[in-house]
Amino acid sequence: MNLHILRVALDVPLPRLFDYAADGATPEDVGRCVRVPFGSGEKLGVIVALAATSEHAKLKPAGEILRELPALPPDWLALVEFCSRYYQHPLGEVIALALPPQLRRGKLPAKRKLKAAADIVSPPPVPPELLPEQAEAVAAVAAGFGRYATHLLHGVTGSGKTEVYLRLIERILARGGQALMLVPEIALTPQLESRVAARFPGAAVVSAHSGMGEAARSRGFIAALEGRADIVLGTRLSVFSPLPRLGLIVVDEEHDASFKQQEGLRYSARDVAVWRAHQRGVPIVLGSATPSLESFYHAGSGRYRLLELSRRAVAEEMPTVRAIDTRREKLQDGISAALLAALEARLARGEQSLVFLNRRGYAPVLACPACGWVSRCHRCAANLVVHLADRRLRCHHCGLEGPIPNHCPGCGNIDIHPFGRGTQRLEESLAVRFPAARILRVDRDSASTPKKWQALLTTIHEGRADILVGTQMLAKGHDFPRLTLVGVVGADAALFAADFRAPERLFSQLMQVGGRSGRAALAGEVLIQTEYPSHPLYQALLAHDYPSFARVQLEERRAAGFPPFTFQVLLRAEAKQLEDSLAFLKIAAATAKTLLPDGVSLYDPVPMRLYRMMALERAQLLAESDNRTALQGFLAAWVERLYQQKAPRDLRWHIDVDPLEF
Ligand code: ADP
Ligand code: ZN
Ligand code: ZN
Repeated sequence: MNLHILRVALDVPLPRLFDYAADGATPEDVGRCVRVPFGSGEKLGVIVALAATSEHAKLKPAGEILRELPALPPDWLALVEFCSRYYQHPLGEVIALALPPQLRRGKLPAKRKLKAAADIVSPPPVPPELLPEQAEAVAAVAAGFGRYATHLLHGVTGSGKTEVYLRLIERILARGGQALMLVPEIALTPQLESRVAARFPGAAVVSAHSGMGEAARSRGFIAALEGRADIVLGTRLSVFSPLPRLGLIVVDEEHDASFKQQEGLRYSARDVAVWRAHQRGVPIVLGSATPSLESFYHAGSGRYRLLELSRRAVAEEMPTVRAIDTRREKLQDGISAALLAALEARLARGEQSLVFLNRRGYAPVLACPACGWVSRCHRCAANLVVHLADRRLRCHHCGLEGPIPNHCPGCGNIDIHPFGRGTQRLEESLAVRFPAARILRVDRDSASTPKKWQALLTTIHEGRADILVGTQMLAKGHDFPRLTLVGVVGADAALFAADFRAPERLFSQLMQVGGRSGRAALAGEVLIQTEYPSHPLYQALLAHDYPSFARVQLEERRAAGFPPFTFQVLLRAEAKQLEDSLAFLKIAAATAKTLLPDGVSLYDPVPMRLYRMMALERAQLLAESDNRTALQGFLAAWVERLYQQKAPRDLRWHIDVDPLEF
């Protein structure tokens, strides 16, 4: 058979491959980049298969095949094909995302030696003696090298999870394997990078994240592809590094939402990593102080193996957590007397405090402060969301809607309002209260570039700030030895948010932010201002008891039919006019109904809460099933039809599989 036809994946928004004629191609060319004519120009694509025949009669000849590099290996092609299929995204676009930008354009970086032994002069630090639980965890994973298993490493902040990863990496390197380690934030990679590099002076460590220069990223990718990299370390996109000798995958802070990409290919790097571990027959370790409920559920069902680190490795005590009941108190600019007194005491002792503002854009629900009534959807146990623009309450789950009531249906109180107002002026009011204190605001605005962010961290570390006012940015992975107090304000909104994942995020943020205090010799204290001090979430937090929180949440999810007990898929549309988006979704829904298998439910199209974004108006449509295979089968058939559906010119749509945001 004469395999003279190339099947090429191109970076275009169409769910198909493109055939070209090529006389000299050999099976070794599968996985290589090739230049091909496209439209009036030229594109670079990846050869994913050779074929003897094509359904197209006249094929254009392919251009140059780039043979200087080893081809992308079959397991890598299988990985991107899986992502294309599972997330219903064109293969060419998946590949374009997975390749570093330079390679995507067919450019090879100049070769440069990777950092290794000779470059580093200081001897590696002596690793600490493992604590018994750490040793058990290491032994459990290492006993299964060479076989697939997902381990969930649940350990409080500072319990020595990183030490467990490093020991496992050491063992896999000793066996000649490569390790892949994923972390949620670019900001955390330099810290970890130096810790890893110092620990393994003889190993080639490669970083991969979007904040790197293009040339460096390409070099790292090629080093991994050629098997020269021993350790690949990076954010979510590093899950696409080719790793011919892969022996171990680690996902740190596996619960972190940043592992899920929110645009283009909406993949979960954690889930893809688990798939990859399975594909390659290697163990994967998912580590967290507050695992995602999905992972915790799998650990409970025996699908994952649970490893626990129950105490901190260095500081003896966990911080004391207390709830401050603000129901009967007149707050001063949103701050309670107890928190003010605690801040005062830290200032007097020259210690640092952090006031944590849970400012995440939770969908506002309507609530009555007098009786605790919350606007709920009677059809699906989700909360109804306030849409101020047209003064309606809407369920983002099923589409039920109604007018905003002007008094509380529970008790008649007319002072009902959306949750979550009044915390914005916090920094200002602190400055007024404590004129002598050095107050530092840390959020996306003040830390808008890595450089500014580093400068802020330095200021904090050098003790040149007394009170930090910050959002979740400050919660992650930093050690502030002089920080002894964390005050939490505005957290209640998440208890009743329309997004069913909000309590899970709140719990994990508060655990993390609490973990910032008292990490060295000084004891830490966490004060949470709340109108619901006896809420089970806060009670679990006070007891540092993630498992009991998780069990309550999982019961609620089971009762309401939410993930992990169901699987969800969203179709979103955006256009200049909301009516266009909704009209598109209505036709899509009608098509879906003709394809819907048993066990898959389809809801009504709804405008998104933030339905206007960058001059586009957005709406979404949810499909759901407790049978993943049924849902995937339906989705494939549906998406095929969506590509044929006529839409207004400016309309764009996309699919979000396992969505995190509603
Ligand atoms: P985690 O990743 O769980 O937050 P780390 O691995 O960063 O925790 O460990 C927290 C601190 O405890 C680090 O300073 C680390 O060096 C130290 N540490 C970890 N394991 C041990 C151990 N077995 N003995 C002494 N110190 C340890
Ligand atoms: Zn509903
Ligand atoms: Zn009421």
